[in-house]
Amino acid sequence: MIDGLGIGHLFELSQAEAIAGFFTPLAVFAVFLLAQLVLPGKRVPGYVVDPQTGEPRTYRLNGLPVFALALAVWASGIAGLPQDWFYRSSIPAVAGGTVFATLFTLLAVYSQPKGTKRNVILDLWNGRVRELSLFNGRFDVKMYLYVVGGTMLSLNALSGAVYHYERFGEDSNPGVFLYAAFFTFYVLDYFIFERVQLYTYDLIHEGLGFKLLWGGLIVYGWLFILPLWGMAAYPDPGFWPAWTYVWLIGTPALFLFGWGISRGANMQKYTFKRWPDRKFLGLIEPEYIQAGERRILCSGFWGAARHFNYLGEGFLCLSVALVFGYPGNPWAWTYFVFIVSFFLWRQIVDDRQCAEKYGAEKWAEYRARVKYRIVPGVY
Ligand code: NDP
Repeated sequence: MIDGLGIGHLFELSQAEAIAGFFTPLAVFAVFLLAQLVLPGKRVPGYVVDPQTGEPRTYRLNGLPVFALALAVWASGIAGLPQDWFYRSSIPAVAGGTVFATLFTLLAVYSQPKGTKRNVILDLWNGRVRELSLFNGRFDVKMYLYVVGGTMLSLNALSGAVYHYERFGEDSNPGVFLYAAFFTFYVLDYFIFERVQLYTYDLIHEGLGFKLLWGGLIVYGWLFILPLWGMAAYPDPGFWPAWTYVWLIGTPALFLFGWGISRGANMQKYTFKRWPDRKFLGLIEPEYIQAGERRILCSGFWGAARHFNYLGEGFLCLSVALVFGYPGNPWAWTYFVFIVSFFLWRQIVDDRQCAEKYGAEKWAEYRARVKYRIVPGVY
């Protein structure tokens, strides 16, 4: 059955290795906690307002140095781990990580006062609080989730690329290396613009329950490389030279196109939130609808569709599906299907929450002005 799925190679661990794999996420969580506390960070005000002080919450950000250190430790091998370990231990790591994320959820939920309307399942899934910081504000739990998740996504992809090379050598699939490069770039970009993350949905709306803890640590960190589970076992697809150029130049171009849209839209919204009257990139005039104290941006990327940033992410996912050169294999599409479904759902939820925040009338005005949800002219 497992062999039929094409992921038999991930079940070739000895019993001792399987146990080590199960506890790998716990060791990773501990090391990252330490690294985030010890490495220097920049304290910045965020977007979310602390209800106790009425002032923006502050965050100590150091994702970039933590990421750089983790990459250096992995690449140098000084921790004594084989470079393909993270990939080879994927299955027990996801099992162990899920158990530990469940324990953290119980801790994050039941250490907080009970809300008024919640039932147990909703408490566990969504959490009771939106923010948790420890060590006198030195450590923010949400930002920690993304530092661990993002860094492990890159390390798991790189580790899978090493596994692939060791298995196929000269006959390796260049698409696998491109795939690892895509995600390493994606995560590096995320850390460079870590402050912009403070203005996004998860920080604004999500609570600290299983959804975010398991999603941020395990889905983001370990399960986003699902396409690789199926594709690392295949060699170079052996296209004709001309088609090889189309594939190896076309997929990175598509990736960069998607990333450009997504990063551009996020930066425009960030610029608008911090400096409402400033032209984005000195070019795009901020046009907005005033809704009481708040402003709904509706020019540039935010005039093309109400969540144009998700379209960029869609192109990026498409490039991930195509980069392996096996478009007929369902494994190649797993990330694409997950992300596209996730964004279709999130856009609907965000639209509803924004209607509440901005007021139904003003939000309806925005919807009339910017008609499409994600894809201009289509949806
Ligand atoms: P957004 O950054 O779009 O954040 C949504 C919030 O932005 C809204 O709740 C609202 O909050 C504000 N907003 C929305 N529209 C407007 C507007 N017209 N004018 C002013 N404010 C507005 O969404 P996400 O956090 O979901 O996504 C951020 C980025 O991260 C995207 O590029 C996304 O693709 C990416 N992402 C990637 C994931 C992945 O797994 N690959 C997962 C999740 C996100 P308020 O009004 O309170 O400011």
